[in-house]
Amino acid sequence: LEARIKQSLRKIVGEENVSDSFMDLVVYSYDASDHDHRPMGAVWPTSTEQVSEVVKLANEHGFPVIPRGAGTGLAGGAVPVLGGLVVDLSRMNRILEIRITDRLAIVEPGVVYMDLQNTLAPYGFFFPPDPASGKACTLGGNVATNAGGLRAAKYGVTRDYVMGLKVVLPDGRIMKTGSHCMKTSSGYDLARLFVGSEGTLGVVTEIALKISPKPTEVKTCLAFFPRLHDAGQAVADITGSGAAPSILELMDANSIRVVRARTSLDIPEADAMLLVETDGFTEKEPAFQMDKAIKAMEKNHAFNIRYAKSAKEAEDLWSIRKAVAILASGARPNSVSGDVTVPVSRVPELVDGIEEIITRYGLPYVVFGHAGDGNMHPKIMYDRNIPEEARGIEKAWEEIFVLTTNLDGTISGEHGIGIAKAPYMYLEHDEVERDVMRIVKHALDPRNLMNPGKIDVEKS
Ligand SMILES: Cc1cc2nc3c(=O)[nH]c(=O)nc-3n(C[C@H](O)[C@H](O)[C@H](O)COP(=O)(O)OP(=O)(O)OC[C@H]3O[C@@H](n4cnc5c(N)ncnc54)[C@H](O)[C@@H]3O)c2cc1C
Repeated sequence: LEARIKQSLRKIVGEENVSDSFMDLVVYSYDASDHDHRPMGAVWPTSTEQVSEVVKLANEHGFPVIPRGAGTGLAGGAVPVLGGLVVDLSRMNRILEIRITDRLAIVEPGVVYMDLQNTLAPYGFFFPPDPASGKACTLGGNVATNAGGLRAAKYGVTRDYVMGLKVVLPDGRIMKTGSHCMKTSSGYDLARLFVGSEGTLGVVTEIALKISPKPTEVKTCLAFFPRLHDAGQAVADITGSGAAPSILELMDANSIRVVRARTSLDIPEADAMLLVETDGFTEKEPAFQMDKAIKAMEKNHAFNIRYAKSAKEAEDLWSIRKAVAILASGARPNSVSGDVTVPVSRVPELVDGIEEIITRYGLPYVVFGHAGDGNMHPKIMYDRNIPEEARGIEKAWEEIFVLTTNLDGTISGEHGIGIAKAPYMYLEHDEVERDVMRIVKHALDPRNLMNPGKIDVEKS
């Protein structure tokens, strides 16, 4: 950090909340993606006003600002790819208000997702989006990436629950947008424009979230399939039957194999597995939904169908699905995960196509994901020091994105575009739409100081 910039930052956030130590520069050079680049320094603001002053300073000196939550992003969104100052929001972590009658929680962006759930639990309420990284990720990160998760098939994603935001704009002004009312038709919906904007339009410093009563009755079931295509078809048949599972997760043969090999969990050899959960407020409600799901799975050759008889048994079934991503990583030093998503009726074609593409490149992989909303997570392992593997993984991803968009899908269902998917935006968004995105970005951030190099429609 230049001495005069460091001095000004210390005045704004306090001496202990500014760093350019080697250790911090390394820590802030990466997130949970496969990208890295060092910033010039980092600050930990504790109020909206401090964030605003930091952004004004960035304008004065022309350095980039990179908002950051917990760094669990999988698309490189928090990686300072063009250098600049990381603004770590994790110390703005107060839950400001819980208003049950208004169905509303007002929080600072650094609140960890699970801390909000734990605070809501005694009221019998919850915040329905459910990222698997919930113990670590922040609500600011969830808003910035429009995070989804396990329950999106029934309950939707973060965008569906954002009522209002406070945002520090790229010129340092503070904007309050949205409403604390259950509905509003008042002017352009700017709050939703900022949801999913990955820190490229401003820094979110306060969030008003819609909250819901938490279902009290849950049924969980696991089923195995002789062919991946059968599981994909079962997913389409379950949603086609009118059933509304709260969770519908798929694992492919490689995912099952890796869990069988690396744990003592009791699971059979199979080409695919589905985990289904249904919920409601009476015992009959989830049972009725589950019956429909079971019929659809049996029609598609499901075997070894197991039901959880207690919360502990449900947790045992869950541990199979939760173990996959981490266990699979061991196959190579590096890995890249995706979040391609298609309309649910196209899931069978997507899973078949992904398997065909990756197999051709001979790289180890697993495919799992939130199949109930059409969202699959291929995770491909490779060694970046072996040139043919590094080339192979790039080609494989390009083919997967082409396949997805040909199936009327989206290249990012929940992780965002970040750096990882910026070159492929053109596959999904035509020239007119990318032009409108450029106009919005230039209007709000003409000097491209706010998280530059992300989403980046100029690139595609
Ligand atoms: C094991 C694992 C499981 C995961 N499972 C899921 C899942 O099920 N569903 C899902 O959607 N994601 C999942 N993710 C991805 C990740 O957890 C989410 O994208 C999450 O929303 C990121 O939150 P974060 O606080 O870590 O944000 P970061 O990684 O720090 O930042 C993500 C992006 O948000 C921006 N940002 C952060 N805070 C702010 C702010 N206050 N204002 C403006 N911009 C901001 C950053 O600049 C960056 O572009 C998973 C990740 C891991 C590692």
